[in-house]
Amino acid sequence: MEKIRVGFGFDVHRFQTGRDLWLGGIKIPSDKGLLGHSDADVLIHSLCDALLGAANLRDIGFHFPDTGSEFKDIDSKILLKRTMDLIRAKGYTFGNADITVCAEKPRLNPYIPRMKTILSNVMAVDEDDVSIKATTSEKMGYVGREEGVAVYATVLIYR
Ligand SMILES: [Zn+2]
Repeated sequence: MEKIRVGFGFDVHRFQTGRDLWLGGIKIPSDKGLLGHSDADVLIHSLCDALLGAANLRDIGFHFPDTGSEFKDIDSKILLKRTMDLIRAKGYTFGNADITVCAEKPRLNPYIPRMKTILSNVMAVDEDDVSIKATTSEKMGYVGREEGVAVYATVLIYR
Protein backbone atom coordinates (compact mmCIF):
# COMPACT_ATOMS: atom_id res chain seq x y z
CA MET A 1 0.00 0.00 0.00
CA GLU A 2 1.65 3.17 -1.22
CA LYS A 3 -0.67 5.65 0.40
CA ILE A 4 -3.60 5.58 2.85
CA ARG A 5 -5.87 8.62 3.11
CA VAL A 6 -8.87 9.64 5.18
CA GLY A 7 -11.66 12.00 4.19
CA PHE A 8 -14.40 13.74 6.12
CA GLY A 9 -17.77 14.95 4.91
CA PHE A 10 -20.58 17.00 6.44
CA ASP A 11 -23.91 18.01 4.92
CA VAL A 12 -27.22 19.31 6.16
CA HIS A 13 -30.58 19.82 4.45
CA ARG A 14 -33.75 21.38 5.81
CA PHE A 15 -37.12 19.66 5.92
CA GLN A 16 -39.96 20.76 3.68
CA THR A 17 -43.48 19.39 3.53
CA GLY A 18 -44.61 18.02 0.21
CA ARG A 19 -41.27 16.46 -0.70
CA ASP A 20 -40.21 12.82 -0.59
CA LEU A 21 -37.63 11.85 2.01
CA TRP A 22 -34.61 10.30 0.30
CA LEU A 23 -31.90 9.08 2.63
CA GLY A 24 -29.12 6.59 1.98
CA GLY A 25 -30.44 5.89 -1.50
CA ILE A 26 -33.93 4.85 -0.40
CA LYS A 27 -37.27 6.57 -0.04
CA ILE A 28 -38.43 6.61 3.57
CA PRO A 29 -42.08 7.08 4.59
CA SER A 30 -42.34 10.56 6.15
CA ASP A 31 -44.75 13.49 6.20
CA LYS A 32 -41.93 15.75 4.99
CA GLY A 33 -38.84 15.45 2.84
CA LEU A 34 -35.58 17.37 2.49
CA LEU A 35 -35.20 20.50 0.40
CA GLY A 36 -32.52 20.58 -2.27
CA HIS A 37 -31.63 21.01 -5.91
CA SER A 38 -31.16 17.26 -6.30
CA ASP A 39 -33.21 14.62 -4.47
CA ALA A 40 -31.52 16.13 -1.36
CA ASP A 41 -30.14 12.79 -0.15
CA VAL A 42 -28.02 14.36 2.57
CA LEU A 43 -26.42 11.03 3.52
CA ILE A 44 -25.09 10.42 0.02
CA HIS A 45 -23.90 14.04 -0.29
CA SER A 46 -21.91 13.76 2.93
CA LEU A 47 -20.40 10.47 1.76
CA CYS A 48 -19.45 12.00 -1.62
CA ASP A 49 -17.74 14.92 0.12
CA ALA A 50 -15.77 12.52 2.33
CA LEU A 51 -14.66 10.52 -0.72
CA LEU A 52 -13.70 13.64 -2.68
CA GLY A 53 -11.89 15.07 0.32
CA ALA A 54 -9.89 11.88 0.81
CA ALA A 55 -8.68 12.09 -2.79
CA ASN A 56 -8.21 15.88 -2.61
CA LEU A 57 -10.72 16.38 -5.41
CA ARG A 58 -12.54 19.44 -4.04
CA ASP A 59 -16.22 18.90 -3.10
CA ILE A 60 -19.60 17.82 -4.42
CA GLY A 61 -20.65 21.37 -5.35
CA PHE A 62 -17.52 21.74 -7.49
CA HIS A 63 -18.27 18.61 -9.55
CA PHE A 64 -22.07 18.73 -9.53
CA PRO A 65 -23.08 22.42 -9.20
CA ASP A 66 -26.62 23.12 -8.00
CA THR A 67 -26.91 25.70 -10.79
CA GLY A 68 -26.67 22.94 -13.38
CA SER A 69 -30.07 21.97 -14.81
CA GLU A 70 -28.62 18.49 -15.49
CA PHE A 71 -28.56 17.95 -11.72
CA LYS A 72 -32.09 19.21 -10.96
CA ASP A 73 -33.93 16.54 -8.92
CA ILE A 74 -31.17 14.09 -9.85
CA ASP A 75 -30.97 10.77 -8.03
CA SER A 76 -27.98 11.26 -5.72
CA LYS A 77 -26.96 7.63 -6.33
CA ILE A 78 -25.82 8.82 -9.77
CA LEU A 79 -23.61 11.43 -8.08
CA LEU A 80 -22.19 8.74 -5.78
CA LYS A 81 -21.38 6.48 -8.70
CA ARG A 82 -19.68 9.35 -10.54
CA THR A 83 -17.76 10.25 -7.39
CA MET A 84 -16.46 6.68 -7.13
CA ASP A 85 -15.38 6.93 -10.79
CA LEU A 86 -13.38 10.08 -9.93
CA ILE A 87 -11.71 8.37 -6.96
CA ARG A 88 -10.80 5.32 -9.02
CA ALA A 89 -9.59 7.48 -11.93
CA LYS A 90 -7.06 9.00 -9.53
CA GLY A 91 -5.86 5.49 -8.72
CA TYR A 92 -7.54 5.01 -5.35
CA THR A 93 -9.32 1.96 -3.96
CA PHE A 94 -12.13 2.32 -1.44
CA GLY A 95 -11.30 1.08 2.04
CA ASN A 96 -14.33 1.78 4.22
CA ALA A 97 -16.86 4.42 5.19
CA ASP A 98 -18.41 5.23 8.54
CA ILE A 99 -21.46 7.48 8.40
CA THR A 100 -23.53 9.02 11.21
CA VAL A 101 -26.99 10.41 10.46
CA CYS A 102 -28.41 12.91 12.95
CA ALA A 103 -32.20 13.07 12.72
CA GLU A 104 -34.86 13.47 15.37
CA LYS A 105 -37.54 11.91 13.16
CA PRO A 106 -38.24 9.50 11.57
CA ARG A 107 -36.47 6.65 13.37
CA LEU A 108 -34.00 5.31 10.85
CA ASN A 109 -32.66 2.10 12.35
CA PRO A 110 -35.14 -0.17 10.50
CA TYR A 111 -33.91 1.21 7.16
CA ILE A 112 -30.16 1.00 7.72
CA PRO A 113 -29.60 -2.57 6.41
CA ARG A 114 -31.27 -1.65 3.10
CA MET A 115 -29.28 1.60 2.83
CA LYS A 116 -26.04 -0.37 3.27
CA THR A 117 -27.04 -2.85 0.57
CA ILE A 118 -28.07 -0.14 -1.90
CA LEU A 119 -25.05 2.10 -1.34
CA SER A 120 -22.48 -0.70 -1.46
CA ASN A 121 -24.04 -1.89 -4.74
CA VAL A 122 -23.89 1.61 -6.25
CA MET A 123 -20.28 1.98 -5.11
CA ALA A 124 -19.35 -1.58 -6.16
CA VAL A 125 -17.77 -2.25 -2.77
CA ASP A 126 -18.19 -4.81 0.01
CA GLU A 127 -21.31 -4.19 2.08
CA ASP A 128 -19.30 -4.83 5.24
CA ASP A 129 -17.15 -1.79 4.39
CA VAL A 130 -20.08 0.64 4.59
CA SER A 131 -21.19 1.50 8.13
CA ILE A 132 -24.24 3.64 8.76
CA LYS A 133 -25.31 4.75 12.22
CA ALA A 134 -28.31 6.82 13.26
CA THR A 135 -28.62 9.12 16.23
CA THR A 136 -30.83 11.96 17.39
CA SER A 137 -29.81 15.35 18.72
CA GLU A 138 -31.63 14.86 22.05
CA LYS A 139 -34.15 17.54 20.96
CA MET A 140 -31.40 20.22 20.92
CA GLY A 141 -30.50 22.52 18.04
CA TYR A 142 -31.88 22.49 14.49
CA VAL A 143 -31.84 18.72 14.27
CA GLY A 144 -33.59 18.47 17.64
CA ARG A 145 -36.28 20.93 16.51
CA GLU A 146 -36.85 18.69 13.46
CA GLU A 147 -35.82 21.46 11.09
CA GLY A 148 -33.52 19.22 9.10
CA VAL A 149 -31.10 16.32 8.95
CA ALA A 150 -27.31 16.47 9.35
CA VAL A 151 -24.87 13.76 8.29
CA TYR A 152 -21.20 13.22 9.13
CA ALA A 153 -19.11 10.79 7.09
CA THR A 154 -15.55 9.53 7.25
CA VAL A 155 -13.91 7.35 4.63
CA LEU A 156 -10.59 5.67 4.07
CA ILE A 157 -9.13 5.14 0.62
CA TYR A 158 -5.74 3.81 -0.46
CA ARG A 159 -3.51 3.13 -3.45
ZN1 LIG B 1 -26.50 18.19 0.07
